Amino acid sequence: MSEACCEFHPPTICGPAKCPACGALGKPVKRITLGALLKPEARPHIPNQEEFCFCRTPACDVIYFRPGEILFREEDLAVKVGLKEPADPSAPVCYCFGWTPEKIRAEIQVTGKSTVVEQIKAQVKAGNCYCEITNPQGSCCLGNVTGAVQKAKERR
Ligand SMILES: [Zn+2]
Repeated sequence: MSEACCEFHPPTICGPAKCPACGALGKPVKRITLGALLKPEARPHIPNQEEFCFCRTPACDVIYFRPGEILFREEDLAVKVGLKEPADPSAPVCYCFGWTPEKIRAEIQVTGKSTVVEQIKAQVKAGNCYCEITNPQGSCCLGNVTGAVQKAKERR
Protein backbone atom coordinates (compact mmCIF):
# COMPACT_ATOMS: atom_id res chain seq x y z
CA MET A 1 0.00 0.00 0.00
CA SER A 2 3.00 2.33 0.11
CA GLU A 3 2.32 2.85 -3.62
CA ALA A 4 -1.06 4.37 -2.87
CA CYS A 5 -1.31 7.90 -4.12
CA CYS A 6 -3.37 9.18 -1.24
CA GLU A 7 -3.74 8.51 2.44
CA PHE A 8 -7.30 7.44 2.02
CA HIS A 9 -8.77 4.62 4.04
CA PRO A 10 -12.30 3.90 2.97
CA PRO A 11 -14.75 2.53 5.51
CA THR A 12 -15.02 -1.23 5.46
CA ILE A 13 -18.46 -2.21 6.70
CA CYS A 14 -19.12 -2.92 3.02
CA GLY A 15 -17.10 -6.01 3.83
CA PRO A 16 -17.58 -9.07 1.71
CA ALA A 17 -20.57 -7.73 -0.24
CA LYS A 18 -20.83 -9.09 -3.77
CA CYS A 19 -22.17 -7.34 -6.85
CA PRO A 20 -25.76 -8.54 -7.38
CA ALA A 21 -25.14 -8.57 -11.16
CA CYS A 22 -21.75 -10.24 -11.59
CA GLY A 23 -20.98 -11.72 -8.17
CA ALA A 24 -17.59 -10.03 -7.77
CA LEU A 25 -16.49 -8.62 -4.44
CA GLY A 26 -17.18 -4.91 -4.07
CA LYS A 27 -14.76 -2.19 -3.09
CA PRO A 28 -16.02 0.21 -0.43
CA VAL A 29 -16.52 3.84 -1.40
CA LYS A 30 -17.80 6.77 0.57
CA ARG A 31 -21.00 8.65 -0.05
CA ILE A 32 -19.12 11.75 -1.18
CA THR A 33 -17.77 9.89 -4.21
CA LEU A 34 -21.30 9.14 -5.42
CA GLY A 35 -22.39 12.69 -4.67
CA ALA A 36 -19.53 14.08 -6.72
CA LEU A 37 -19.76 11.80 -9.74
CA LEU A 38 -23.38 10.85 -10.34
CA LYS A 39 -25.42 12.76 -12.90
CA PRO A 40 -27.65 15.45 -11.36
CA GLU A 41 -30.75 13.38 -12.10
CA ALA A 42 -29.34 10.33 -10.30
CA ARG A 43 -28.11 12.24 -7.26
CA PRO A 44 -31.51 12.49 -5.50
CA HIS A 45 -31.64 8.68 -5.46
CA ILE A 46 -28.54 8.14 -3.31
CA PRO A 47 -29.76 6.14 -0.30
CA ASN A 48 -29.24 7.70 3.09
CA GLN A 49 -26.17 5.76 4.13
CA GLU A 50 -22.47 6.48 4.31
CA GLU A 51 -20.93 3.52 2.55
CA PHE A 52 -21.40 1.96 -0.86
CA CYS A 53 -19.75 -0.77 -2.86
CA PHE A 54 -18.05 -0.26 -6.20
CA CYS A 55 -18.01 -3.10 -8.75
CA ARG A 56 -14.67 -3.39 -10.54
CA THR A 57 -15.63 -6.03 -13.11
CA PRO A 58 -14.95 -4.51 -16.58
CA ALA A 59 -17.79 -6.38 -18.28
CA CYS A 60 -20.39 -5.53 -15.61
CA ASP A 61 -22.26 -2.24 -16.02
CA VAL A 62 -23.07 -1.94 -12.31
CA ILE A 63 -20.99 0.81 -10.72
CA TYR A 64 -22.41 1.13 -7.20
CA PHE A 65 -24.40 -1.34 -5.18
CA ARG A 66 -25.11 -2.29 -1.62
CA PRO A 67 -25.56 -5.83 -0.39
CA GLY A 68 -28.35 -7.39 -2.44
CA GLU A 69 -29.27 -4.21 -4.32
CA ILE A 70 -28.01 -2.61 -7.52
CA LEU A 71 -27.98 1.17 -7.09
CA PHE A 72 -26.27 2.87 -10.02
CA ARG A 73 -24.99 1.78 -13.41
CA GLU A 74 -22.54 3.36 -15.85
CA GLU A 75 -25.29 5.46 -17.44
CA ASP A 76 -25.93 7.17 -14.07
CA LEU A 77 -22.42 8.61 -13.85
CA ALA A 78 -21.36 11.94 -15.28
CA VAL A 79 -17.91 10.59 -16.15
CA LYS A 80 -16.60 7.65 -18.14
CA VAL A 81 -15.47 4.82 -15.91
CA GLY A 82 -12.08 3.76 -17.24
CA LEU A 83 -12.16 0.43 -15.45
CA LYS A 84 -15.36 -0.47 -17.27
CA GLU A 85 -14.12 0.71 -20.67
CA PRO A 86 -10.78 -1.03 -21.12
CA ALA A 87 -11.05 -0.74 -24.92
CA ASP A 88 -11.74 3.01 -24.90
CA PRO A 89 -8.40 4.87 -25.14
CA SER A 90 -10.04 8.13 -24.00
CA ALA A 91 -11.59 6.76 -20.80
CA PRO A 92 -9.59 8.17 -17.87
CA VAL A 93 -7.32 5.99 -15.77
CA CYS A 94 -6.26 8.91 -13.55
CA TYR A 95 -9.05 11.35 -12.88
CA CYS A 96 -7.20 13.93 -10.81
CA PHE A 97 -4.76 14.75 -13.61
CA GLY A 98 -6.61 13.53 -16.68
CA TRP A 99 -4.44 10.64 -17.81
CA THR A 100 -5.99 8.35 -20.40
CA PRO A 101 -4.51 5.35 -22.23
CA GLU A 102 -4.10 7.47 -25.37
CA LYS A 103 -2.15 10.19 -23.52
CA ILE A 104 0.06 7.58 -21.89
CA ARG A 105 0.64 5.97 -25.28
CA ALA A 106 1.46 9.31 -26.89
CA GLU A 107 4.24 9.99 -24.40
CA ILE A 108 5.73 6.55 -24.91
CA GLN A 109 5.61 7.00 -28.67
CA VAL A 110 7.52 10.25 -28.50
CA THR A 111 10.02 9.58 -25.73
CA GLY A 112 10.10 5.78 -25.50
CA LYS A 113 9.16 5.86 -21.85
CA SER A 114 6.41 6.85 -19.47
CA THR A 115 6.76 9.36 -16.67
CA VAL A 116 3.11 9.32 -15.68
CA VAL A 117 3.54 7.38 -12.43
CA GLU A 118 6.34 9.73 -11.31
CA GLN A 119 4.28 12.76 -12.29
CA ILE A 120 1.29 11.55 -10.31
CA LYS A 121 3.42 10.72 -7.28
CA ALA A 122 4.91 14.22 -7.39
CA GLN A 123 1.44 15.73 -7.49
CA VAL A 124 0.36 13.57 -4.57
CA LYS A 125 3.31 14.88 -2.59
CA ALA A 126 2.26 18.39 -3.50
CA GLY A 127 -1.18 17.64 -2.06
CA ASN A 128 -3.07 17.87 -5.33
CA CYS A 129 -4.70 14.44 -5.34
CA TYR A 130 -8.49 14.23 -4.93
CA CYS A 131 -9.37 10.65 -5.82
CA GLU A 132 -12.21 10.62 -3.35
CA ILE A 133 -14.23 13.05 -5.46
CA THR A 134 -12.73 12.63 -8.92
CA ASN A 135 -12.34 8.88 -9.32
CA PRO A 136 -15.47 6.68 -9.48
CA GLN A 137 -13.67 4.03 -7.47
CA GLY A 138 -13.15 6.66 -4.78
CA SER A 139 -9.55 5.73 -4.14
CA CYS A 140 -6.06 5.77 -5.53
CA CYS A 141 -5.64 5.35 -9.29
CA LEU A 142 -1.97 4.35 -9.33
CA GLY A 143 -2.76 0.65 -9.74
CA ASN A 144 -4.88 1.42 -12.80
CA VAL A 145 -2.25 3.78 -14.18
CA THR A 146 0.52 1.23 -13.75
CA GLY A 147 -1.65 -1.29 -15.61
CA ALA A 148 -2.32 1.17 -18.43
CA VAL A 149 1.41 1.95 -18.79
CA GLN A 150 2.16 -1.76 -18.97
CA LYS A 151 -0.47 -2.23 -21.69
CA ALA A 152 0.83 0.75 -23.66
CA LYS A 153 4.36 -0.65 -23.60
CA GLU A 154 3.17 -4.08 -24.69
CA ARG A 155 1.45 -2.52 -27.70
CA ARG A 156 4.67 -1.09 -29.05
ZN1 LIG B 1 -20.67 -6.24 -11.06
